[in-house]
Amino acid sequence: MGFEVDDQGFYGDFGGAYIPEMLYSNIRELENRYLEIIRSDEFQTEFRQLLKDYAGRPTPLFRAERLSAHFGTRIFLKREDLNHTGAHKINNTIGQILLARRLGKQRIIAETGAGQHGVATATVCALFGMHCIVYMGELDVERQAPNVKKMKMLGAEVVTVHSGNKTLKDATNEAIRDWINHPVDTHYIIGSVVGPHPYPDMVTRFQSVISEEIRIQLQEKTGRNYPDYLVACVGGGSNAAGAYYHYLEDKRVRLISAEAAGLGVESGMTAATSLLGTSGIIHGSRTLLMQDDDGQIEEPYSISAGLDYPGVGPLHAWLAKSGRATVFAATDEEALQAALLCSRKEGIIPALETAHALAVLEKITPGPDDVVVVNLSGRGDKDMETYINKLGI
Ligand SMILES: *Cc1c(COP(=O)(O)O)cnc(C)c1O
Repeated sequence: MGFEVDDQGFYGDFGGAYIPEMLYSNIRELENRYLEIIRSDEFQTEFRQLLKDYAGRPTPLFRAERLSAHFGTRIFLKREDLNHTGAHKINNTIGQILLARRLGKQRIIAETGAGQHGVATATVCALFGMHCIVYMGELDVERQAPNVKKMKMLGAEVVTVHSGNKTLKDATNEAIRDWINHPVDTHYIIGSVVGPHPYPDMVTRFQSVISEEIRIQLQEKTGRNYPDYLVACVGGGSNAAGAYYHYLEDKRVRLISAEAAGLGVESGMTAATSLLGTSGIIHGSRTLLMQDDDGQIEEPYSISAGLDYPGVGPLHAWLAKSGRATVFAATDEEALQAALLCSRKEGIIPALETAHALAVLEKITPGPDDVVVVNLSGRGDKDMETYINKLGI
């Protein structure tokens, strides 16, 4: 059983490119060119240089002594929070903007929910002097005002989407419409391992620098290059895909995915997509998604905007379905408490998304000599208002 994408863009039963005919030319161009471009020495040199000098890589692998003592095991935190713009998302936007330039595109579009991907996209567009348009639902524009301001300061145009529920799903539809209307000069930077093939594979490759570094850093720190447990949160699944990538076929490594249970997996107010989801098509690929008996997509809920998505990337659907990854769901409350614990034990305030991965440490039972790596996907600055309100700080 393999976990690499196949020729048709599938991971087991999931993936593919289910797109309207109007998008064929855009997707085919990407599919035909992406591997050749990404593999070229010239691309790799520029990508690596920017990851180092602009994003701040390699990010440290930190031995968390006090959390380790608390859980009675050996815990390491992969510090993606220390990247420029505060999370792993910049790895992908750097990769995609370099690809877009080599495809001769001058105009970049993106969708964003919480605004983190919008900021990471606006950032690389400023860096390369590219025209940037970010689609964002009206509700999210109101809820995420600081990120909207950042995107504008970076020179991006933020287009408010008034249709549907006025959130991420509607912003994505609007971005797709834009792409259909500008097939020649525009590249669409998708923010996670979702969407039609080749996006899930392309974004996974850009994020795979995370596991590439973990291997080297674990070798230095523990004398072997793999952990016993590798824990990451899954929204669309890009930080997890990057952290897992070089260990996908290594069965010594237990892959642990953390989803958002919201108010509880069975509460009706949840984003536990692969636990509750059934096979269906969303945003161009077949995956596990939360839908009712008529195939209507059910609105997800999580306290964390980055995990509040009704599907998961097709790789994660396959990892869950095949049993390669074990999926746990953490509730809002469990995530809040885990964020507080990490702050008090290690002096690191994590993003709310990341807090779900930390909360899963309560649900697994590693031994005292086991090595546990948690992918610390982002920092908590953006979530301070929620922490203040919910934790009564
Ligand atoms: C966006 C985001 C996520 C969720 O996205 P994935 O594609 O699942 O990684 C997780 N953590 C942080 C800090 C984010 O900003």
